[in-house]
Amino acid sequence: MSGNCVFCKIVQGEIPAVKLYEDDEIVAFFDISQVTKGHALVIPKAHHADIFSLPEKTAATLFAAVPKLASALKAEFAPAGMNILNNNGEAAGQTVFHYHLHLLPRYGETGLYG
Ligand code: 5GP
Ligand code: ZN
Repeated sequence: MSGNCVFCKIVQGEIPAVKLYEDDEIVAFFDISQVTKGHALVIPKAHHADIFSLPEKTAATLFAAVPKLASALKAEFAPAGMNILNNNGEAAGQTVFHYHLHLLPRYGETGLYG
């Protein structure tokens, strides 16, 4: 748990989130501001600010869960494709400094990366 971190608060159950998956080490939940329908985030429960401070073991655990989470979103929302992305540092667009991956279902709309 780190100070005023909003994602640590979600992990602790101090603020609500619509979760799609949770185990001892990770949690996946829908982004509060949906860029596309089904936009979700997956995070390690442990607080690490970004990819530069993410332990390899945590990265391995987190990334191992991504195919099944992406597949669950695909089954639920039937997108045409999916972006999986991660911002590191303010200059890269990071706004929450608890490591997270975005799972962004895509429906053939323009924008983001076209
Ligand atoms: P970043 O810009 O750091 O890559 O992404 C942070 C994401 O966290 C944003 O897409 C933002 O909408 C989402 N977010 C911020 N606060 C909350 C919250 O309290 N609950 C949920 N579910 N998502 C949040
Ligand atoms: Zn945190």
